[in-house]
Amino acid sequence: MAQRNTWQRERVREALSEARGFVSAQTLHATLREENTGIGLATVYRALAGLAAGGEADSLQSPDGENLFRACATPGHHHHLICRNCGLTVEIAATDVEQWAQRTASAHGFTRAEHIVDIFGLCAACTAARDTERAAH
Ligand SMILES: [Zn+2]
Ligand SMILES: [Zn+2]
Ligand SMILES: [Zn+2]
Repeated sequence: MAQRNTWQRERVREALSEARGFVSAQTLHATLREENTGIGLATVYRALAGLAAGGEADSLQSPDGENLFRACATPGHHHHLICRNCGLTVEIAATDVEQWAQRTASAHGFTRAEHIVDIFGLCAACTAARDTERAAH
């Protein structure tokens, strides 16, 4: 592990925990740039990949194929509900999904099955705001 990059990684970890929901490396880099930290985009990428690999951050792909990261409060396996408008993220357990995935995998003779299930949508507040907007027109 390169010691000289430790403070940068710490700074990225901090910025990630302050973020509201899932963020891309670019977004986080822009935040850090406003604070004049001098941390480059490549370093942000590396730090995020390291945090994700070490289980300190969750990573997922948005429907647009963008890699997003978040420092989740729930350790271990869980799923997410993500507002595609404001980024609000809810961590959810999904017992039905766990059982279905196990059953489906073993029905096909698969073992050690893993899955990634995240739900993107509009949160209640964004839905209400959109409805109000529509009513005003
Ligand atoms: Zn998570
Ligand atoms: Zn929202
Ligand atoms: Zn699951």
